[in-house]
Amino acid sequence: MTHRSEGSLRREICDAGRTLYDRGLIGPLDGNVSARTGDRYLLCTPSGAHKGELRPDDLVKVTLDGRVVTPHAKPSTEILMHLEIYRERPDVGCVVHAHPPCAVGLTVAGVSLDRPVVPEILFAIGPVPNVPYSSPTTRDVPDAIRAVLARCDAFMLARHGSVALCATPRDGVIMTETIEHTAKITLAAKAAGGGAPLPDAEISKLLGLAQAARGANPREADLVEAVTRAVMAKLRG
Ligand SMILES: [Zn+2]
Repeated sequence: MTHRSEGSLRREICDAGRTLYDRGLIGPLDGNVSARTGDRYLLCTPSGAHKGELRPDDLVKVTLDGRVVTPHAKPSTEILMHLEIYRERPDVGCVVHAHPPCAVGLTVAGVSLDRPVVPEILFAIGPVPNVPYSSPTTRDVPDAIRAVLARCDAFMLARHGSVALCATPRDGVIMTETIEHTAKITLAAKAAGGGAPLPDAEISKLLGLAQAARGANPREADLVEAVTRAVMAKLRG
């Protein structure tokens, strides 16, 4: 959870938008970023804005139950998804939604990063499942993501984009970059004629190692353990 001042949080969200755009992780009008400020509010990017050119005053303040506080402002069209995440995950301070091209392309081909071809993403983020397609901006999106919110800190909306649940806007950008970098490696492997995921036993081992590495923080360790259990249940089922 962030304890930053609202002013610095506004600047961090603008910085995140610029970085996502500069690194090709969104088209100019794509994606959205939100962050909790205080106990009752969140700040989010405005609908239709160029995310590479945001200014702190452009951001829209919304209550956690969806009432727009900023006069004459229109929040992101994906605000329903953001609100659902904050409702279901009190531990999340920020949500970064982007359209990383390789990672989205893999979802179109039905490839998931839930069982990756390389280990690093499991340490950095954990499993990143694909959520079945739903029409962007509609109530269908929060309904579709509910099933994965308890078991992961990032997921892919099929044929649409990435969603990172994180503490700060910068963390969300780093998670998005990790997802896209893993997607590029996966694509290279597939182009070279391979691309098999890591064996299930190795994925389980890596998630256990990640848990041990984070063991200093009991709350995080609990979360990793829950994710490990969920992944093992899925692999068995
Ligand atoms: Zn989107």
